[in-house]
Amino acid sequence: MENYYGRKGTRVINVGGVLIGGDNPIRVQSMNNTKTSDADGTLEQIRALADAGCDITRVAIPDMDAAEALKTITSKSPIPVVADIHFDYRLAIEAAKNGAAKIRINPGNIGGQANVIKVANVCKERNIPIRVGVNSGSVEKSLIEKYGKVCPQAMVESALGAVKMLEDADFDDIIISIKSSSPRLTIETYKELSKITDYPLHVGVTEAGTVREGIIKSAVGTGSLLAMGIGDTIRVSLTGDPVDEVIAGISILKALDLRKGGITFVSCPTCGRTRVPLIELASEIEKRICTLPYDLKVAVMGCVVNGPGEAKDADIGLAGGIDEFILFEKGETIRRIKADNAVEEFVAEVKRLGEKNNGK
Ligand code: SF4
Repeated sequence: MENYYGRKGTRVINVGGVLIGGDNPIRVQSMNNTKTSDADGTLEQIRALADAGCDITRVAIPDMDAAEALKTITSKSPIPVVADIHFDYRLAIEAAKNGAAKIRINPGNIGGQANVIKVANVCKERNIPIRVGVNSGSVEKSLIEKYGKVCPQAMVESALGAVKMLEDADFDDIIISIKSSSPRLTIETYKELSKITDYPLHVGVTEAGTVREGIIKSAVGTGSLLAMGIGDTIRVSLTGDPVDEVIAGISILKALDLRKGGITFVSCPTCGRTRVPLIELASEIEKRICTLPYDLKVAVMGCVVNGPGEAKDADIGLAGGIDEFILFEKGETIRRIKADNAVEEFVAEVKRLGEKNNGK
């Protein structure tokens, strides 16, 4: 695997068979928003996430019912499942025993070093890594007083303190995250942290917002770090359907050429030449094809004058005329499609070409 953007060398950590760090592909993660104690509902969402391309998912473990349900979830999940724990070390131990592929905790808030040792020992026996998850809201009061505010130095010191608690428990199977809801603070903090650690970094902007705002903040925060070679796994955090987090995460990686394969979708911004309802049509087509398992560049363009030319590197495309579209492949016109059935016909054509190419 190519080491893009001078990606910073990190050690490799195994999360339920998915390798994170080193030269491994940058992994896309998400988090379920189902009730974990509802194992069937959670598994249904995990399958949707996996189908969208999610590499690893995480579930909240707020109580023993959730920790118990994890047994069913982890035995049937198609992808590794991470247990997210706050405050109660007993939940972490139970989750580790019930098949969690990784535990996400903040060692600083589970009741002291004795509890950290208990969790570390159970994880070590089972080769389960721990993600030290620090964020701007969890920085200790003493560090805020020392630095006068939540700043990159305070967050890095907080994370390293938490990491040291695990290292003192003779545990180093660690991934670190150090997120903030501010893309700028996130960028500055990960930059500082990556200078002084070789543990793999889980990168993301936390509480980024609703789909539109969240994707922009994530693309700026996570995308900037990835372009600097920082980050081994990412999570786009959105107030919405977690499947959208996965699609956005993959789009960020693809925009930086960090993930190959799958559908690359392009569409024109429309202009005075557009005579078809391209905006609605492009959104509908994108929704229908974005998770198809074909390595294709697909273009949806507003006019036949410039569309096929502007998108001539697309494998397949649609360009708007008057009440009709032309279908083109690699810039060559193939046939005309009536406007009233354009989405159905075009999606079918994309699938046909994808199948043909996959069968090569
Ligand atoms: S492809 Fe045609 S409609 Fe779209 S922006 Fe270019 S000129 Fe305008």
